[in-house]
Amino acid sequence: MICTNLEQIRSVIRETAIGCGRDPQEIKLVAVSKRMPVEMVSEAHQCDQMLFGENYLQDAEKKIRLSPPSLRWHFIGHVQSNKAKMAAELFQMIETIDRLKIARSLDHHAGVLQKKLDVLVQVNVGREPQKSGILPEDAGDLLRAMQPLTNLRLRGLMTMPPYGHEAEASRPWFQALKKLSVELAGENCFYDNKAVELSMGMSGDFNVAIEEGATLVRLGTAIFGERPL
Ligand SMILES: *Cc1c(COP(=O)(O)O)cnc(C)c1O
Repeated sequence: MICTNLEQIRSVIRETAIGCGRDPQEIKLVAVSKRMPVEMVSEAHQCDQMLFGENYLQDAEKKIRLSPPSLRWHFIGHVQSNKAKMAAELFQMIETIDRLKIARSLDHHAGVLQKKLDVLVQVNVGREPQKSGILPEDAGDLLRAMQPLTNLRLRGLMTMPPYGHEAEASRPWFQALKKLSVELAGENCFYDNKAVELSMGMSGDFNVAIEEGATLVRLGTAIFGERPL
């Protein structure tokens, strides 16, 4: 089941990319395994899925320690200051930086671990009060303030747009994130300003996200089915 889903999703990614003139290789699939058992991670791994996303640290820790070290893990949940050490240790990328305090803390712990940690800044494009992420107009200040944090590699931006019933509803939000990333790359805010990562698109709207420039799509339900509560 998981294999069939993965194969189908990979072909949608490929066809969507080609359809809009992009190189399919530019787009990486993050398999969001949150609240799913480690057996499902290993089933996906057997079908060559190497990159996984988790948003609960406690739950992720067990799975990561039980999985082969060749797997790569992205943290996509809200980072709490008192958990920054564990996050820096377990993950290759933290996609959800939205304040300087947490960036500094992750930079400190990455330094202690003698590791370079890839990070994205999460932007609240829809300005939803209940959502994490920095407001678009404040992103520039945060990115500039992060420049001295040399144990972090600021790879790009991430967003979770307002929920819409149709994929098309997400398009303007994806366009807004892309536009912001181009502006900030113009100010050399990223680690590699010619290859800025954009993490956007989930099970319901990843095709639209690819058309608008996503380089990371985060899919849970479409791969693993409905999550247990
Ligand atoms: C759960 C989650 C996803 C995956 O959502 P699906 O709709 O199941 O694909 C993607 N990104 C974040 C940040 C999530 O929390």
